[in-house]
Amino acid sequence: MKDKEARRKTTARRWELRFCGRRGHLTYAPDESGLAGRLRTETAQGEAWRCLRCGDYAIGAPAASGPADDAPTPLRGKALRDAFIIRLLAIERLLRGLFLIAAAYVVWRFVGARDSVQRVFDKDLPAVRDLSRRTGIDFADAAPTRLLQRALDAGHGTLVLLAAGVLAYGLLELLEAYGLWIMKRWGEYVAVVGTAIFLPLEIYELTEKVSAFKIVAFLINLAAVAWLIWSKRLFGLRGGHAAFEKERESTSLLEVERAAARV
Ligand SMILES: [Zn+2]
Repeated sequence: MKDKEARRKTTARRWELRFCGRRGHLTYAPDESGLAGRLRTETAQGEAWRCLRCGDYAIGAPAASGPADDAPTPLRGKALRDAFIIRLLAIERLLRGLFLIAAAYVVWRFVGARDSVQRVFDKDLPAVRDLSRRTGIDFADAAPTRLLQRALDAGHGTLVLLAAGVLAYGLLELLEAYGLWIMKRWGEYVAVVGTAIFLPLEIYELTEKVSAFKIVAFLINLAAVAWLIWSKRLFGLRGGHAAFEKERESTSLLEVERAAARV
């Protein structure tokens, strides 16, 4: 049990050290002298302050100072690792959103250019058929030709609806990406609900035709929903928001030192 705890701490610290290595330590001198004394030390090279993220002493003046209540509360340990995963999810949502908006634009442009496409199609299709006859390859029945024919056959209203639907879906993905990136609780809710409502559709799609891409996309979405609900304690799970905040506070170096100073 103790080993497990120690191992967890090492993993958590690895994330903190990696972050501090990239962005630098986060030092803060609280106005409260008792508390400040617990965070400060003298070294041969001068004063050093404990980093609020990784807990190491960083030589030099503190990066900021003020009342302890105004001190930054950096993400630490597991929360820091979670933040990394959340940002990855946000990037994935962003790319998906941009792709969908581009797709909506293509459909929209196609609606406008439909008549001219239809004219070209009608004019050239006999020639294509003729070519097919002579070469023995049925171009007119090739997948792209059939897809184009199906799009041309679809009503104007259907295509406009399709473009609007794809655009709305793309914008939802962008909203999810933004909410996740800034790490707000509403963003996590939007991402969970926005992803979950499409899961039944994804299952239906899989029953229609199975492809490796569809399976992977479905599993990523399913895992993201489950992980977000579990680790962020959404919908009141595992004590909900209050428990989440409490967990965060318990990992705050300043809070720990503050509690120790009070004793
Ligand atoms: Zn640090």
